[in-house]
Amino acid sequence: MKMKRIVYADNAATTKLDKLAFEEMTPYLLNEYGNPSQPYSFSRRVRKAISDARQSIAHNINANPDEIYFTSGGTESNNWAIQSMFSTTKKSNHMITSEIEHHAVLHTCESLVNQRVNVTYLAVDRYGLVDLNALATALSNDTGLVSIMLANNEIGTINPIQELARVVHQKQGVLFHTDAVQAVGHIPINVKALDVDFLSASAHKFNGPKGVGFLYIKKGISINPYMHGGSQEFGKRAGTENVAGIVGMATALQNNVEIMLSVEKKLIDLEKKFMEELKNYGIKFMQNGASKKIAGNINLSFEGVDGELILHRLDLLGVSISTGSACNSNNTRLSHVIRAIGVPENYANGSVRISFGKDNSVEDVLYIASAIQKIISTCS
Ligand code: PLP
Repeated sequence: MKMKRIVYADNAATTKLDKLAFEEMTPYLLNEYGNPSQPYSFSRRVRKAISDARQSIAHNINANPDEIYFTSGGTESNNWAIQSMFSTTKKSNHMITSEIEHHAVLHTCESLVNQRVNVTYLAVDRYGLVDLNALATALSNDTGLVSIMLANNEIGTINPIQELARVVHQKQGVLFHTDAVQAVGHIPINVKALDVDFLSASAHKFNGPKGVGFLYIKKGISINPYMHGGSQEFGKRAGTENVAGIVGMATALQNNVEIMLSVEKKLIDLEKKFMEELKNYGIKFMQNGASKKIAGNINLSFEGVDGELILHRLDLLGVSISTGSACNSNNTRLSHVIRAIGVPENYANGSVRISFGKDNSVEDVLYIASAIQKIISTCS
């Protein structure tokens, strides 16, 4: 019997754990199990592993080690940065974000209503880019924080964070957070050059383990503790550390940084091949996202076809991808990103995200393109 081909092409959702990261993590799951907060030498080794990981991560984003705070992932990092800025001790009551942020940002912003914080949601253009002038206009004397994502998870668009931060910092006292979950480990990150005050990252998006991430908080910024209890994470985020996760995250980031350029080139080539194949099949589609985007993250809208149907039919053929829309007749479940960038109605419901990663091959690309061709030809 012929084995079904399995092709994973949803690397923007999560990535395969790096083998070296797994190996580096293992001792901290089996033998080096001391509580990092204890004073004896059995625990001191574990404490050093955390400290080394903090140093390595800091080095890879050009931060100082004491600016790296370990969290449970991107969601927590986003929640922390945003919520703490509007706690009762802070005077500002206005925040600015964009319409295409991840729900970890958007829903956190919605929760600020309880603290009487007004939120401005900036529109984006057809490519998912935030307008610098619109940001400048939205800033007011009440604004405390601006949160704009570095790279969008659905369409891969990379926003000009350095320029956006410059606009924000022209207004005294306003802080800038970026959700860089889709960017860290995929493109070079330099927090000093970006001039951000907070940056969120998540290990499982860059071949690290799930359930661990970090928040970069620029030195000198006073931020309220997120979790109350012990004195871990400089007294700001209590709780015994996820030691193996932290070690695995640092190793995965280091490895991804080392091979970043060659992986990017490979992904650009795979993407080119994929687009050529689809065009050769004569399939009608639009590609979403800006020209400056995360390599391998491909968001396509097919005319007159349901994206959900494509996803499920591909699944039957062993292919894992994601959909930008979960359609129904009145569009109420259309992805907020696809809606915000204004994909025409006859294409919007046919939106899917295919995100290739470093383990994908040309054969994977050809297989998915041919599978899409078959699905579309039987649907139209
Ligand atoms: N922000 C973005 C842009 C994401 O893509 C994700 C995950 O999909 C998150 C935040 C949430 O990260 P985590 O899964 O680590 O909570």
